[in-house]
Amino acid sequence: MFRQRIVLGLIAFLAQLSSVAEPAFTQRGYYMTFMRMPAFGLVEWKQIVDCIQEDSGNTLLLWTAGGFRSKQFPETWAYNADHRNVQSDFVRELIDYAHTKNIKVLLCFTPFAYDGVNQYSIKRPELRAIGKDGRETQFWGMHSWGYNLCPSIPESQRFMLGYIREMFFDFYPIADGVMIESSDYAICYCAECREKFFEREFQFVRHISDEVWKAKPDAMIAVYPHYFSGSRVPGFDVKAAAEKFDPRWTLFFTPHSAHIDTALVRQARTTIYSNEGLSLGSPAKIRDAARLARKHGLTGFVPSLEPFTCPAGPPDNPGPRLKPFHFGWLAEGEMPLNELPIRINRIAYAEYSRNPDLSDKEFRRIVGRALFNEENPQALDDALFVRDCCFQEAEWFRAPPLLAGLKNRKIPEGKLAQLEERVERLRAIASRYQTSTNSSERQLHKIALWIAQQWE
Ligand SMILES: [Zn+2]
Repeated sequence: MFRQRIVLGLIAFLAQLSSVAEPAFTQRGYYMTFMRMPAFGLVEWKQIVDCIQEDSGNTLLLWTAGGFRSKQFPETWAYNADHRNVQSDFVRELIDYAHTKNIKVLLCFTPFAYDGVNQYSIKRPELRAIGKDGRETQFWGMHSWGYNLCPSIPESQRFMLGYIREMFFDFYPIADGVMIESSDYAICYCAECREKFFEREFQFVRHISDEVWKAKPDAMIAVYPHYFSGSRVPGFDVKAAAEKFDPRWTLFFTPHSAHIDTALVRQARTTIYSNEGLSLGSPAKIRDAARLARKHGLTGFVPSLEPFTCPAGPPDNPGPRLKPFHFGWLAEGEMPLNELPIRINRIAYAEYSRNPDLSDKEFRRIVGRALFNEENPQALDDALFVRDCCFQEAEWFRAPPLLAGLKNRKIPEGKLAQLEERVERLRAIASRYQTSTNSSERQLHKIALWIAQQWE
């Protein structure tokens, strides 16, 4: 009897342990703009997948439009001809590799806009969308510069279907689904679109979803709430469509263009929250996003992790390729995710997506243990400071002030003094670890020294 009680007690204790270890979200991983990373080949992408697995991820949102060698629409990748996957296709192999790590891969694209798609209208001006001012939409892009398309024109719909069919069915049918990322910068305000824009976009979304599900009933298809909510869409002066929601769709929410809609969340089986996360964020922002997603009962948290290696400028003045996260010390094409500043962001993601309630003190302890393997408060403070220097005021296409150094921009007098104070501290960090043999301390030395050199 006594022994039985001990056994039962042990079982209850183990059950409690496993419920503590159960992650807060079912869908975990990263949103990665593959097409804006021309410098990484299969070797680096396999290392990236290893990092996702290390962070307990099981989902990779891989933005492939514009980044594969379409046969039917070669104009979609001409701007990206030096992308490693355009030169020699490896995404099939990459997906196979991700599957061996139990990571699902969704192919991402934007209907009628953004990378790859906006190239189609460069030589077909009749397909271009109309801006809010009644004039033709502007030439714009991030790496892929072009014009967004009007979805009311049948040829635009034909192209979208043809392009995505080719991407999913011909190129990467082993992918686990698609993510249809509604545009956050432009819609069409022509007389046919305007208030009906999201209905027009939905025509395509419904069509491609049915085809994908027919071929692959378990496919995950992530969409924006703009087709169902009926409410104002952030950033555009128009209403969302009010189409019927099919619970097979996964809903995708972001803080800047698709706010969490609790009524819709209740209708969906799977819901994913995403923000600028690891790319431009901080452990505190990652923590807050995880808490917000959990508070609203979302099932997934898949933030951005976007080490761009494309040029920052427009086609007539592209400039050099960016270094991932503006880490100027990296060699061309080097895999950046194990660099100390982004590693801290990754630890933040892994920990807060597992347990959004983790205290700041506990988070600090975990980072210290992961990097220095012992009690070392000085090194931990230095590491958190260096991380902060690398991400504070970071922008997608512009290095944060400390990494940009003196040469790249005009700095107001008051701010200059603040930055120089930080550079002083970085010099001290660089010298503190000059002869260290611990690998994280070696990184602190390398990075602090590199930043200080930008200020000489
Ligand atoms: Zn239109």
